Amino acid sequence: MLIEVKGIEEVFHISEPWYIESCIFSNEHQQLDVYVDIRKGARFSCANCGAESQSVYDIADYNRTWRHLNFLEYPCYIHAELPRTDCQNCQKVHRVKIPWAIKSRSNFTILFDAWIMTLAKDMPMSAISRLVGEHDTQLWRILHYYVDNAIESQDLSEVTMISTDETSSKRGHNYITIFMLLRYLQCKVSA
Ligand SMILES: [Zn+2]
Repeated sequence: MLIEVKGIEEVFHISEPWYIESCIFSNEHQQLDVYVDIRKGARFSCANCGAESQSVYDIADYNRTWRHLNFLEYPCYIHAELPRTDCQNCQKVHRVKIPWAIKSRSNFTILFDAWIMTLAKDMPMSAISRLVGEHDTQLWRILHYYVDNAIESQDLSEVTMISTDETSSKRGHNYITIFMLLRYLQCKVSA
């Protein structure tokens, strides 16, 4: 079933020079496939140095697929070519930054990542895996990516004390070590 796609880019947060070429619902596979293309002569910013208006050097991958948020109860996938630029500024060939995915090599869109991160606050990963129909190894990669980034971006310059504690997660020898980073606040009391 071919779905009318005129002006539907906004719904999928897809912006120029990308556009939706076709949108097909497969009865056989029970999924929605969104095929995204690039305007002729499109230029991109260099993913390495950010230099604007670099022409397309070649296509690194002709059929990349990203799992997106569900379309109603059906899985939705975005398909697109992955171009590379040969930057005139830094003289390096790089894959362009895909606006709907955090990394060009990711298998999921940013919104799918956000959905998994929201679920992970309250559910074990094995349950999320069954719910969304993706292998938990892939889902753990999403969680590790965002947690590692959040830890790296922490400002620990004002931490003055570290407290640790340990507990077991189940019977046996599965232990969890908890670190608490404390900022010491000095209060002055005036007479
Ligand atoms: Zn560059």
